[in-house]
Amino acid sequence: MRLVTVASPTGPRLAALRGEGVADLHAADPSLPTCMKELLAEGDDGLRRAAKALAAAPAFAAAPRLLAPVSNPQKVICIGLNYADHAAESGAAIPSEPIVFNKFPTTIAADGDEISLPSCSSKVDYEAELVVVIGKGGRNIAPEEAFSHIAGYTCGHDVSARDWQLEKPGGQWLMGKTFDGFAPLGPALVTRDEIPHPGDLKIALRLNGKTMQDSSTKQLIFPIEVLVAHLSQVCTLTPGDVIFTGTPPGVGMACDPPVYLKGGDKVEVEIEGLGVLCNKFCDGGAVRR
Ligand code: ZN
Repeated sequence: MRLVTVASPTGPRLAALRGEGVADLHAADPSLPTCMKELLAEGDDGLRRAAKALAAAPAFAAAPRLLAPVSNPQKVICIGLNYADHAAESGAAIPSEPIVFNKFPTTIAADGDEISLPSCSSKVDYEAELVVVIGKGGRNIAPEEAFSHIAGYTCGHDVSARDWQLEKPGGQWLMGKTFDGFAPLGPALVTRDEIPHPGDLKIALRLNGKTMQDSSTKQLIFPIEVLVAHLSQVCTLTPGDVIFTGTPPGVGMACDPPVYLKGGDKVEVEIEGLGVLCNKFCDGGAVRR
């Protein structure tokens, strides 16, 4: 299934992509939760109920606006330098264990949202990333159990203000990574059953149509199951938590001369089997929806 969250007069609402249209799951089963996190908290039973509803659901007459598939995750966890050649282009050593940072949930944006470039940064960069969405929560999850805790996958864009990430005292990456709108996600949460080999997916990023990143999740230094096990040693993972798994080489700061985002730019993140996440950027102001 390609589960989505759509805008509705009563607030965010669970739905599913089907062909070119959007299926209204609640028209078939009004008892389904409207919130993606609540559905994921029901585990495999919830996904089975959604699949049954999808088989009988009508399409929305007019395509609703997509929100991020999980619009309000409790945690947005990110892995840094998880592709060897990206570590090299960043001038960083290959890490001996995962490098972890986070974004606040206010970073979440949807496919199609226009993202504001903050006026206090002149070095906003792009990063295509495979995003893991947690289904069943847990603590101290063993690597061999990790996939049973994953609901599915989506495309993510780890937008990064390099001046705030790398040129401030203290060495913390948080501020450069957590401007509002700096974590577009989507378009859909593609359930785990449809992506049997998440460690072997083509991943690419295009800036105004030009390919800037072109790699495969085969290149991940720490694979998905290791990341889930590592993170869950420290904190309880909960349904709907999202894990950005790192970016391949080709980021703007490593180009010669460097390439930073400017108003009017269009960035597309495409991951095999997961679709295309497309966002435009604009100068200043709030995230436009
Ligand atoms: Zn990243």
